[in-house]
Amino acid sequence: MVPKPLYPEVKINWKLPAVNVDRPFNISPGTASFSSEAEPSSGKVYRYFAFIDSSKLAISMEKDGSIKKNLYNFTDPSQLWRIDNYGNFYALYNKKYGAYLGKSLKANKEKPDNNWHESAVYLVENDEHTYSIGYTRDNKQLDSADILRNLTLVTIPLVAWRNPSGKFVSIESNQGSLNFSDGETHGSTTIPKPEQLFLFVPHPDFSTKSVIIGQNEKFLEFNPSDSNKSSSFGFELKTPERLPFILFDYDQNIYPRGANFLASRLQQPSISKAAVPPPGKGTRVRVWKSDPSVKTIGIRELFLINTDIKSGPVDPWFETVSTAKPIAPDANGDFLLDFDNTPSQAPNESDNHTRFDVVHTFSTVRYTYDLLLGDLEYLDGNPPQLTRPWGNKRLQIFPHAGEDANAYYSREEGALKFFFTKRKDGTPIFLCRSLDVVAHEAGHSFLDILQPQWRSDGQTGGFHEAFGDLCSLFVLISMADIADLFVTLTKANLRDPNNFLSAVGEEFGDALFNNKGKGLRNLSNDLIGSKAQPEVHALSLVFSGFYYDVLVDVFALERNPAIKGDTDTLLDVATALRRALIIAIRVSSESSTKTKFQELATNLETAFETLSRRLGVNLSSWTEVVRKHAKARELSIAGLS
Ligand SMILES: [Zn+2]
Repeated sequence: MVPKPLYPEVKINWKLPAVNVDRPFNISPGTASFSSEAEPSSGKVYRYFAFIDSSKLAISMEKDGSIKKNLYNFTDPSQLWRIDNYGNFYALYNKKYGAYLGKSLKANKEKPDNNWHESAVYLVENDEHTYSIGYTRDNKQLDSADILRNLTLVTIPLVAWRNPSGKFVSIESNQGSLNFSDGETHGSTTIPKPEQLFLFVPHPDFSTKSVIIGQNEKFLEFNPSDSNKSSSFGFELKTPERLPFILFDYDQNIYPRGANFLASRLQQPSISKAAVPPPGKGTRVRVWKSDPSVKTIGIRELFLINTDIKSGPVDPWFETVSTAKPIAPDANGDFLLDFDNTPSQAPNESDNHTRFDVVHTFSTVRYTYDLLLGDLEYLDGNPPQLTRPWGNKRLQIFPHAGEDANAYYSREEGALKFFFTKRKDGTPIFLCRSLDVVAHEAGHSFLDILQPQWRSDGQTGGFHEAFGDLCSLFVLISMADIADLFVTLTKANLRDPNNFLSAVGEEFGDALFNNKGKGLRNLSNDLIGSKAQPEVHALSLVFSGFYYDVLVDVFALERNPAIKGDTDTLLDVATALRRALIIAIRVSSESSTKTKFQELATNLETAFETLSRRLGVNLSSWTEVVRKHAKARELSIAGLS
């Protein structure tokens, strides 16, 4: 029996209520029209793929049927391939020429009917998340041509529109005008032919505009001045004044609309996903989940999802530098050290304490990064590819960097350094023992990855400090035990003046200011922009206080303890606000600006729109909260007077 290919399709409806800024897509007599067969109102997404090498060359089919590499251009259908899944093998169908990739690097019109067929191929995942297109001679070994090796697979979402009688919109080949025609039928399934699939490119600023590109690589335009009043694919985007006629409004029930996200939502049976650690793997560690002065929290176990932490500890991102010998994980891969009762001493801290500090500091940094890297993967649908501003090497963590009332991230040194300082009675405080301080410095390094020009003064530098403190907050509030403890201790009152969540650096703050746990800085504050000092740490309180206000109000909005526990609500709200802040950072301008606070607050509104589409809920009330507090805090003038 000839195996039947699968054509998985994405269940997304795209609505096109308007053809451009002011013209309805619903077309009445006398205006533009598709044809008499009714207009399509919604489309479905189908996926094609491009195979690209490290020099951005894509596998293409030439007019003469040969297979070559050409500079990647996702609007060129000769570079786009449908992957037909035949169970244990595949066939790659070219969009432009309607032919299969033959293993002898020639076009082949025939569908494969067995795995030895000229059109039958295998997709092999290599180590570096690249793929090779191969074939087999003996069912044991896979071979592939040189140009088909080590390719990155990119999903290209394409849209087909059907009318009520099931016909697909297609381009009339000569004029580029639109019509309806039958699709391609396989058994009981009908799929669009290549020429019935359109490239749908969302506008990059997350707005509701997109452009549509046809098989002939031209844009769909609707030209009201055209005497025929017809829509056509005739525009090559050489004259920007015609741009309004190719911008389409659309609506979609998921977000983001980018190819990356679609790729992440698509079933890709040919491709093994990034490995999820199996249950029972990962690394357990012991850390101070606040700092030694916060006795209700103390030392707790923390589960890191990472399976690649080696003796040191060291992993692909981080290494530790201390007087302790490398610390090996136990037989279960865990680092469960005890912190003995002997008093701390400095500069020659005991080996037991040093080893504990090394594991605690490394683990806190690792956890912070896991959280934020996970956010990027959630937003993009792929593990992020990041450039390390400190160079292509591990960030070094120094838990005991010497004596100073300080801790810092240094891009130039490629390091996170934590010092000790002495109380009045001479006993040392090690800053690395504060989860707040460690997460804060880790936050600086992470923000330096996302926005390398933001190490600055003024509001941009102030935001760097605020982000560090917000990292501490979000790290704490992401841990279910800490979130639950917080809800229990404060009876779900985020404004409780003595709460450990808004206080940053309690032990250090108490030593400096004798303020009994209020912290070095407190996010639960009422500092407004016109009163803020320009020094970055002082200034940061305006933004961190603003975002803490947002957390308080959004939590109050979302609270409904009768149907969902407060701890769960707090965890969920915090996750959404953390991701919104990441979106706002990424869409903000790269340069250091005087009014970065307000820019970020404005971009938070965009971020909520993004998340609301993604989560399928209306977050417009959250936007109101942001507006209200941005105004009340005087974000736009903070530190400028
Ligand atoms: Zn800082």
